[in-house]
Amino acid sequence: MRQPWRVAVVGGGIAGLAAAVRLRDRAPAGTEITVYEQSGALGGKLRTGELAGQPVEFGAESFLMRDPTGAESAAVALARRLGLADQIVHPTVGRAALVIDGGLRPIPGGTLVGVPGDLDRVTTVARPAAGADTDGGRPLVGLDADVSVGALVRSRFGDEVVERLVDPMLGGVYAGRADDLSLVTTMPALARAARVEHTLTGAVRAAQAAAPRAPGAPVFGTLAGGLSTLVEAAVTASGATVRRDAAVRELTPTGTGWRLTVGPTRDPELVDVDAVVLAVPARPAARLLAGPAPAAAAGVGQLDYASVALVTLALPQPELPELSGFLVPSTEGLLIKASTFFTTKWGHLRRPDGLALVRASVGRYGEEAQLQRPDADLASTVHRELSAVLGAPLPAPVDGHVQRWGGALPQYTPGHADRLAAARTALRAAHPTLVLAGAGYDGVGIPVCVRSGETAAEEIITALGGSAR
Ligand SMILES: Cc1cc2nc3c(=O)[nH]c(=O)nc-3n(C[C@H](O)[C@H](O)[C@H](O)COP(=O)(O)OP(=O)(O)OC[C@H]3O[C@@H](n4cnc5c(N)ncnc54)[C@H](O)[C@@H]3O)c2cc1C
Repeated sequence: MRQPWRVAVVGGGIAGLAAAVRLRDRAPAGTEITVYEQSGALGGKLRTGELAGQPVEFGAESFLMRDPTGAESAAVALARRLGLADQIVHPTVGRAALVIDGGLRPIPGGTLVGVPGDLDRVTTVARPAAGADTDGGRPLVGLDADVSVGALVRSRFGDEVVERLVDPMLGGVYAGRADDLSLVTTMPALARAARVEHTLTGAVRAAQAAAPRAPGAPVFGTLAGGLSTLVEAAVTASGATVRRDAAVRELTPTGTGWRLTVGPTRDPELVDVDAVVLAVPARPAARLLAGPAPAAAAGVGQLDYASVALVTLALPQPELPELSGFLVPSTEGLLIKASTFFTTKWGHLRRPDGLALVRASVGRYGEEAQLQRPDADLASTVHRELSAVLGAPLPAPVDGHVQRWGGALPQYTPGHADRLAAARTALRAAHPTLVLAGAGYDGVGIPVCVRSGETAAEEIITALGGSAR
């Protein structure tokens, strides 16, 4: 292999940047890393903006502190690697609520993304079906099987637990419905336990016991300066050349590596590299793979996405409950899917003048028409619905921002993990120097995407014949 290695990272989201940092740390010294990002900004779904003179997240807001095994999450490890560990802050108010029959009720504790391990604890919001979670003498889910989270929970706990607890909590992450989402990909710890345990309450308890949390240990963290500081620090640490406004339109195998076609059709730039980390969502990835790896493209391209809009309002001294926010079951008939009271939830965002920043997320999978409305209409509907849920009219906003994320949240249907494994096997066999990374493949969330990028970098290093340092 020629030295120095030239590695292209296609996609400047957190997965691509984590790959770039890992390449810098483990690939031979002098490796030339270039990040190609089609938009004008790095970070992908991580975007810290400003509202009413205050930094505020217009995309992802926080990260899990621990992974499903209970170990430090890859996001925390990356922050530490980048010298940002002392910038990690935690919610000062962690309690959130559910909207039930138009009013707020505390979210019951002790569930796994809404799936209870103790049915008595959820009766304040949902009536579990009586006597359905019986031991049938075999594991809940077959060894290689996958089911939808909704189907499993409905069969064991009844419809209300799905509609009032699991749907809003999973929907808060995926903007999708529990009935469509894969157990294996969206709730891997529960899936593992369900292959052993005979009841769903038993499986939830086993999954929780497998990742014990020290009492009082924070579940979520963010960076005091905003998540864009993670993006900037990753770029610096990677020492990568960054190409913004540089869409990669074609990947062509050259025999010894890859030729990238970059930029506008009329004036393309051709770049030769030894290996590629493909860290873009599944749809653009499928287009790029269609020529060199059609089997992988077909598998990857089956993934569908939900669109959402985030409406953030700056409200002068509103009366807000001491909650981090609330989630809305789709059965409530509101446009708002979830709301975060930023300035209540995060102590570092509180303002002496009492100005509150409240964000509402709008849009569920299959209801894209709701997002066709103009920004002002979305903002006024959110304002009206917030007032109704809180039971008192909120003051008029002094500032507002609408961030649209089109086709942003993957809808992993049952069987996603197997389809992906087959796509990766096909790709590895044909082209070991082209590796997929990011939310289109391994799951959403900053920690999962960081890990995915790092794993991709290590695969590239192995494929190029280097040993990880
Ligand atoms: C609204 C919203 C809120 C979220 N909130 C949270 C949260 O609070 N906590 C959490 O952990 N996770 C959250 N997530 C999920 C998390 O943000 C994502 O899973 C993660 O950021 C995805 O990272 P990625 O690098 O895989 O993809 P992306 O962030 O999508 O990055 C991919 C990049 O590739 C670029 N690209 C695409 N095609 C090309 C091309 N042909 N050439 C060059 N570049 C290309 C894109 O422009 C983009 O910048 C949220 C997601 C959304 C949408």
